[in-house]
Amino acid sequence: MKKRVLVSACLLGLRTKYDGGHNCLQQLSDLPAKAALIPCCPEQLGGLPTPRRPAEIRGGDGHAVLSGTAAVMTADGEDVTRAFCLGAQETLRLAGLLSVQGALLKARSPSCGCGSIYDGTFSGKTRAGDGVTAALLRRQGLPLFTEGETEIFLQWLEERDS
Ligand code: SF4
Repeated sequence: MKKRVLVSACLLGLRTKYDGGHNCLQQLSDLPAKAALIPCCPEQLGGLPTPRRPAEIRGGDGHAVLSGTAAVMTADGEDVTRAFCLGAQETLRLAGLLSVQGALLKARSPSCGCGSIYDGTFSGKTRAGDGVTAALLRRQGLPLFTEGETEIFLQWLEERDS
């Protein structure tokens, strides 16, 4: 049976990115044959519009945001933490409703990034850490992958459920 996988919607070519674009990956084009995909954009689920102003986490990563010690800010200083946390909670709810077994998430995003995120300076630099949604999904023990880990991800897809 195919595994059920939550996927950052922008990786599948849906125009959910902050600038109205997407991050479609050609190497994922045959993924629907290998897994049951559930596209999801946490920032849209949190009520933010598309296009929207870019935002980054200041003062920590997604775990710190969930703990209330860091904030998600747009470049012009608007605090959008609440929308990012709501989007993370809605994504978790969706994952539970559909019994998702893992997630393939967009690298470095303040929502979806896993292990590395933009550092809050809007300079393209990164820091270690998870985005807000990735942090919440990781707390549930869900296996997380980014588009930079497609080989490991594809191996995981082929592993039998234990
Ligand atoms: S929140 Fe995630 S799915 Fe939505 S555009 Fe950003 S990286 Fe893609």
